[in-house]
Amino acid sequence: MTATTMPDAPLTVPMVLRHAFAVHAAAEVVTAGETDRRVSFAALQPRIARLANGLRALGVGAGDRVATYLWNNQEHLEAYAAVPAMGAVLHTLNVRLSVPQNAYVAGHAGDGVVVVGENLVESFARLLPRLDTVHTVLVTGAGDGGALDGHGRRVLRYEEVLAGADDQPRWPALDERSAAAMCYTSGTTGAPKGVVYSHRSTVLHSMSVCSGNAVGMSARDRALVLVPMFHANAWGWPYAALMAGTSLVLPDRDLSPERVVGLIERERVTVTGGVPTLWTDVLHQVRARPADLSSLRLVLCGGSAVPAWLLDAYRDEVGVPLVQAWGMTEVSPLGAVAHTEPLSQGRLLFGVEGRLVDDGGACVPRDGAAVGELQVRGPWVTASYHGDADPAAFDGGWLRTGDVGTLDPGGHLRLTDRAKDVIKSGGEWISSVELENQLAAHPGLAEAVVIGVPDPRWQERPLAVVVPAGGAEVEPAVLRAWLADRVPRWWVPERWSAVAAVPRTSVGKFDKVELRRRYAEGLLPITTVDGGTAR
Ligand code: ADP
Repeated sequence: MTATTMPDAPLTVPMVLRHAFAVHAAAEVVTAGETDRRVSFAALQPRIARLANGLRALGVGAGDRVATYLWNNQEHLEAYAAVPAMGAVLHTLNVRLSVPQNAYVAGHAGDGVVVVGENLVESFARLLPRLDTVHTVLVTGAGDGGALDGHGRRVLRYEEVLAGADDQPRWPALDERSAAAMCYTSGTTGAPKGVVYSHRSTVLHSMSVCSGNAVGMSARDRALVLVPMFHANAWGWPYAALMAGTSLVLPDRDLSPERVVGLIERERVTVTGGVPTLWTDVLHQVRARPADLSSLRLVLCGGSAVPAWLLDAYRDEVGVPLVQAWGMTEVSPLGAVAHTEPLSQGRLLFGVEGRLVDDGGACVPRDGAAVGELQVRGPWVTASYHGDADPAAFDGGWLRTGDVGTLDPGGHLRLTDRAKDVIKSGGEWISSVELENQLAAHPGLAEAVVIGVPDPRWQERPLAVVVPAGGAEVEPAVLRAWLADRVPRWWVPERWSAVAAVPRTSVGKFDKVELRRRYAEGLLPITTVDGGTAR
């Protein structure tokens, strides 16, 4: 036996912080607002120490949950750093969820303290009476949080807690396998489920984000973080940036396309990312008012399938590489990035092993044709949910992603659907992703979403919900002819619904659950063409 000479050095958030402050002190964090706030990593260090020491003085101990109710800003980053580093657990609440959903999530996580943004006090005031486990609320900024009084909780000013604490970092020795942070899935297809990240998984995932096949985050970058820090850890960018010395540009609450474009121009942003609906809005913005986006080296796009026309428009019109990425809360979240095959969801990153499994539980070949549900596993892929929710989501150590598609011999993942959105017509699968992709490419349409609806003859048929571009309706017959040239004929929908806007989830994805509900309740205007298969 040859013993290793290497130490068993734990991979922890304090390790990331020590590096950030020792080596990248000059990197900065910019929070956009009426007046931008700028702070160097060096100036952040004592604030992060003060937050940890202040929380400790309030009674927060190892393993206790400290929640955030914040947009993307400096204080959120401070909590990202301080809470895990002191041995407590950061829980990012999604400020766009409803009161009952957040009450459920906060209770399930057992949150004791919540850091609330001064611009979210009103919204939080509606939630607070429902938060049974919360004893202390810290309100950022200058506001006094008066709206939160009267519920029998301790309400303090964040800045006063910092001012009253000392600025020396005292990070305990942490087990790398202990909990660092938790995040709930946004519930696009079901009740939110909690994922608890360890220090080790957080560090390894951050290293992956910094690697070349992923985002290649480095000290030469200025990253604009548009993915909410309450959603899937903002794709892991805050920790990756601390690790790599990347300057961060944080938009706070205003995610309008004007603001996004303005920040890219002014801050000379090199890398950013977000969901396809956001990049569609930004595209319309730069078409209307050309802007200098030449500083960008990479724009990641993911969270739902990226339509081909959008990739083309960024390449040809904007001159900026829009690159598709796949991930999920359960995967920390980054799993694959499509640097090589733009139309695919990308190649799985090192550390995320994948396989495709059919309905009968057998693995299907990686031949680019056989379709199965993607299962993944790895050091930053969750192997269970908090409180053992939904054990059926796991298969012998593999996570069932609920995503359905193919893998090719070159390693590229191509998703055709989410298992819960799959349309099975006459026993055969119709890809809603492909139909949406082709419809969205029609010049007369701004958006298109396809859902499966019950059909007496075929069990299920696709319903196309479309948003006309510029208000002028496009006849279903025209769209059917367009599709007939591009997809198998039997995929072409008979049912059409033209709407002014498609409902979106709390994280900006098309809300198919809501569309199915509206359809079931007869709330969607439906045109049926081709007779025969009407509801
Ligand atoms: P939620 O499940 O609430 O939507 P997540 O944000 O974790 O929460 O979503 C993960 C899911 O988003 C994936 O399982 C997948 O269905 C979808 N997704 C993410 N990226 C892509 C992509 N590039 N193409 C298609 N689907 C994607």
